[in-house]
Amino acid sequence: MSGETLQVYFLGTAGALPTPMRNPSCIMVRRGTDMLLFDCGEGAQQQMMRARCGFTVNAIFVTHWHADHFLGIFGLVQTLSFNGRTEPLTIYGPNWVHEFVENLKKITRFNLKFPLDSIELRDGSWVRFNGYTVTGFAVSHGLPALGYVLEEDPRPGRFDRDHAIELGVPPGPLFGRLQRGETILVVKDGVEREVQPYEVMGAPRPGRKIVYTGDTKPVIPILVEHGRDADLLIHDATYDESEIKRAAEFYHATASQAGQAAAAANARILALTHISSRYTDTAIHANEAKAAFSGTIIVPDDLFMLEITYGS
Ligand SMILES: [Zn+2]
Ligand SMILES: [Zn+2]
Repeated sequence: MSGETLQVYFLGTAGALPTPMRNPSCIMVRRGTDMLLFDCGEGAQQQMMRARCGFTVNAIFVTHWHADHFLGIFGLVQTLSFNGRTEPLTIYGPNWVHEFVENLKKITRFNLKFPLDSIELRDGSWVRFNGYTVTGFAVSHGLPALGYVLEEDPRPGRFDRDHAIELGVPPGPLFGRLQRGETILVVKDGVEREVQPYEVMGAPRPGRKIVYTGDTKPVIPILVEHGRDADLLIHDATYDESEIKRAAEFYHATASQAGQAAAAANARILALTHISSRYTDTAIHANEAKAAFSGTIIVPDDLFMLEITYGS
């Protein structure tokens, strides 16, 4: 169904090294009552406390097994167990997710009170939730690494109220039945006739779409394929253009390359993240991305929350 709130909390926006202002990678998406974590860097649970979002995590999606993307899982899992969680929690990720979860269970010395599961995802693997799907796509980071697309189901087309009335449908419950896809019977000028949903409903409209690259070199064709028309593209922007060689060497992207990707994929909003600890001022990131991308650009600080509205 449409109309659920969709919020993105940037809980950790640092590169591999945290700074006093930025925690390692963690992005929380709340959709309705669902809460998904994308990466869970060190200190994620305290960021969740600061964001006052509770701990009812439905799933954790890890992009890759560099420590700045998963160290927070240990503390979070212990806290969930202490808090008496009983519902299962699944950790999704690329190659080695099973080893990670097995090792976590082996080395922690607390009594885990809920089932902790692992599911390995590959390029194109998807996970279905109520009203949306999360799909993994392979990126380029020198080890198995996935980006993720969260895409809502299409929404029903617009209801043409005036036309419905013209056809003899009285305002009221019959409107709802048409909107739910039912054919109804009406009497107009003494003649009974059927009104079919397609007569009064426009074409289905796309749901909202969030794309998170995780750490990666520029992968524009892949983002055009998986991230086209994203409402929000969250892209690796570890470096500015002066460090383009270092970015290539360490399989990261520059802000400018993130801007090029956002333009190619026709994204609506670009969020630059995984900012290297060498930068205290990110104006340069925003300006470099702006040269390539004319949409909205943000360089979120930790705890920044973005509400994703419908683009159409
Ligand atoms: Zn990283
Ligand atoms: Zn990495």
